[in-house]
Amino acid sequence: MRKKDLHIPQHKTILVTGGAGFIGSHLCERLLKDGNEVICMDNFFTGTKENIRNFLQDPHFELIRSDIVHPVFVEVDEIYNLACPASPIHYQYNPVKTVKTNVMGSINMLGLAKRVKAKILQASTSEVYGNPNVHPQKETYWGNVNPIGIRSCYDEGKRCAETLFFDYHRQNKVRIKVVRIFNTYGPRMHPNDGRVVSNFIVQALKGIDITIYGDGSQTRSFCYVDDMVNGLISMMNTDDEFIGPVNLGNPGEFTIRELAEKVIDLTGSKSKIIYNPLPSDDPERRRPDISLAREKLGWTPGIELESGLKKTIHYFDQILREK
Ligand code: NAD
Ligand code: UDP
Repeated sequence: MRKKDLHIPQHKTILVTGGAGFIGSHLCERLLKDGNEVICMDNFFTGTKENIRNFLQDPHFELIRSDIVHPVFVEVDEIYNLACPASPIHYQYNPVKTVKTNVMGSINMLGLAKRVKAKILQASTSEVYGNPNVHPQKETYWGNVNPIGIRSCYDEGKRCAETLFFDYHRQNKVRIKVVRIFNTYGPRMHPNDGRVVSNFIVQALKGIDITIYGDGSQTRSFCYVDDMVNGLISMMNTDDEFIGPVNLGNPGEFTIRELAEKVIDLTGSKSKIIYNPLPSDDPERRRPDISLAREKLGWTPGIELESGLKKTIHYFDQILREK
């Protein structure tokens, strides 16, 4: 008998861990719009109910307050594993927990995927390249990571998670997808998140000093969140043979000083730039080579930094007015 004849729903049931976070909440929203059943699992360490408020009452949306370091039993077709604090101040707050989230959390989610035969996507990071000696970064580059520094809980945690994904694939035939996300920004970043885009915009809107760490010559490539969500879903929908890892990010590269100047310009702020010490192991430059994503996913980001920043500034402006 076919599933259709049993009156079992035809649409997919999708688990998003970290679904109440910045990227996760946009992903849940998009998956709901596409007609799926979405289960969001989050421990609310950095995520908020506010992020998912618009669809909390949607009958196709379900929230589980739980931590991925504990096993969970749900019947799902796909898993997006996004649970993990992404901002340096948050992942360094409890570094041992960050490692547990990446290692034990991945084992739990991969175990679930194995049991229910779900496809599982891991939100890995450009941090697996560390302070890269190769520029721009291609997926074939193995990275330059300090294993004992203050960023290591995140960098090595994510590297070990990638290892686990590939070993579950080789050993247990789990259908995996690994994406390496480069700096992503947009509405629903937490105003006190500590990442550069949210910091600069909030500082500019409040008219307080803009804090550049180091001399601001370090570079990053910034991807708007809608582009990122498109990339994640495109990767999940590739055929089973393509498992990654694949870079997802916007190849436009900017110095942190250029970013500060752009934010000042777009907000018309009177804020002054001040220079604070550079945290240790802060990567000097970062830009994704996205030829693999272009080829395999037909994906390319469409939102330029200036237009993405305008949308993000509008969001933070509203948030700050409500306070
Ligand atoms: P975020 O901090 O806004 O979201 C992370 C979410 O995971 C939060 O809702 C948090 O409460 C939840 N979480 C954390 N630990 C958990 C645990 N143990 N159990 C259950 N839930 C937990 O960060 P984000 O920017 O939305 O990042 C999402 C994912 O993408 C992360 O895995 C991050 O490493 C990855 N990533 C993000 C970026 C970026 O620039 N935003 C870059 C590279 C990788
Ligand atoms: N940064 C900065 N001022 C801030 C926050 C961050 O100059 O208020 C710098 C930080 O040192 C890094 C870059 O901006 O060089 C990006 O930092 P973020 O924390 O956003 O992400 P990551 O370092 O993980 O790429």
